[in-house]
This record gives sequence, C-alpha cells and structure tokens, in this order.
Amino acid sequence: MTKLIAIDPGHGSDTYPPNKGVPGMAEHSFNAAVAHYVKPLLESSGFQTMYTQTPNASERPLRQRTEDANHRRADLFCSIHADANANSSVRGHWAFYWHTSELGKRLADVWSHYLSRETGTHHRGNVGSKPNHWTNFHVLRETRMPAVLMEHGFMTNPQDLARLKSDPFRRQSAVALAKAICDFYGVPYKGEEGKRYMEVQSRVLRKKFEEVINDGANRGLIGKSIPDQYEEGKLPVDDAIAAVAAIVTAKPGSTIPHAHKSAVKKAVASGVTNGERMNEPATRAQVMTFLDRTGQL
Ligand SMILES: [Zn+2]
Repeated sequence: MTKLIAIDPGHGSDTYPPNKGVPGMAEHSFNAAVAHYVKPLLESSGFQTMYTQTPNASERPLRQRTEDANHRRADLFCSIHADANANSSVRGHWAFYWHTSELGKRLADVWSHYLSRETGTHHRGNVGSKPNHWTNFHVLRETRMPAVLMEHGFMTNPQDLARLKSDPFRRQSAVALAKAICDFYGVPYKGEEGKRYMEVQSRVLRKKFEEVINDGANRGLIGKSIPDQYEEGKLPVDDAIAAVAAIVTAKPGSTIPHAHKSAVKKAVASGVTNGERMNEPATRAQVMTFLDRTGQL
C-alpha cells in the first residue's frame, strides 16, 4: 500500500518576527522551502504526501498538526527546522526522535546519513526526546507514527546561516530527506525522473499545441508560466492536460472586438441579431437565417 508521508514545515510565516528566528533569516522560510521541494520528489518516488502546515502560511497549532497526521494515519512524520544557540560556534545538523521509538531512531539515523552525504555538513549526533526534558517536543510525543524533528543547522552560526539561506542547500536538504525515506522503505529513489514532461513529436501538432497554450495564456485562461515551462521542456504532462482542459472549456468572452463594434450595433438596431453571444461561432443554419433577415434570400 502507498505510504503517506506527513511533511511538517516547522513554523508558520507569522512566527517570525518576533521570536522564532534570528536576525538575517526567518526560520520558516528555510522550513517552507525544503517542504515545498521535497513534496514532488517523494511523489515521483511513489509516496503520498500531506502538509501538516501549509508552507509560507500562518502558523497552525501543533496539536492540530499531530491530530491531522494521526487521523489520516500518516506512516511517517518529518518535521523540518533550523536551530539557534546563544553560542555562535555551535553548528551542524541533529535529529530528534521519541526515545522509545525504534523506527523513529532508524529514520533519524538514515535522514542524518543522507543529509551529511548530500550537503557535506557536520552531524552533531541524534537525540532521543524524553518527558520532563527540553527535548520533550510535542510533534514527537503526540504522533502515533515514527516521527523525526531535524534541525538542519544553526542560524546563529555564520557558516550554517549562509547555507540555510542558499537555495542549493535547501534543495539538497530536500533530496536528502526524499532519499532517506526511500531508503527507509527500501524503494528506489526516482527524484524528478518519475515526472513526464510534455514533448510533442509531430511538428504540426507541436505548432498547434504552442498556439493553443500561448493564446490561452494571452487570454488569461492559464498562467503565463505554462508556455514558459513548455519552452524549457519542463511542463509536466498532467499540467499540460489540465491547461488544455481549462482553455477548451472556457466560455467565449463577451467583449466585442473594436473592429466589429459598429457592425454589431447596426445589426442589433435592425433586428438581425439580439447582440448576445457575439464571439461564438455560427452554424450554417444560423448564417442562412442571417441572410434571410437581411433580405438576401
Ligand atoms: Zn524550529
């Protein structure tokens, strides 16, 4: 059965400022970026995913997040964080798991292994979280599935901070997590490979497809990024199908192009047409009626 992975981007966008971050970086921006990058990597490797907290949205209470993951019977819970310390020389990544959870420990070990391998950063070692201790984290204590909270580095250390702020490190961190989960379940990591991109072989159809999506984007029916992605060879097939569906089911606009305005006005005044649905095509039968109304038959 498909495994459901709960991705927990540590904090909401409104937890910084004032207190969860340090000057120079909002912690949630790192957490949200990794969460956003890891989702498609997991899905293309055959996992289902859920966010316990929407990346870059306001903070959801921790209780709601764990209840949500428990209720949906997620198989793993992965919490993405960056750390802070009063001592700026403290650096590296470390992971926390509930002290009685063997599988939690295993996931923490494999995640740390891949994080070191993908990013080359220092591993401080992993810690079993316990009650009545500063490591008594809600997301580890209240989850019913193996759960790990990864602190990817210290925002208070200059070298770590530079990495945490960089897009390549965020992407590598996402790859590390996706590879760790694949390893944990013994399935091959497919990365972006599993995704198929729109690639039209026939020259005629390719021209037609380009016309349709360019026209759709110009009319505002689909995002401008769709033709751009297609041009770069990075338009996922699913997105291409959805875009074409949006274009072909769109209702014709009601604005009459300037060149036709005066003719339509005259036609309405003389009773040839009621002036509605002027941008829709006419059938041959309707054309005969128009000819008849204008006395040409
Ligand atoms: Zn945090």
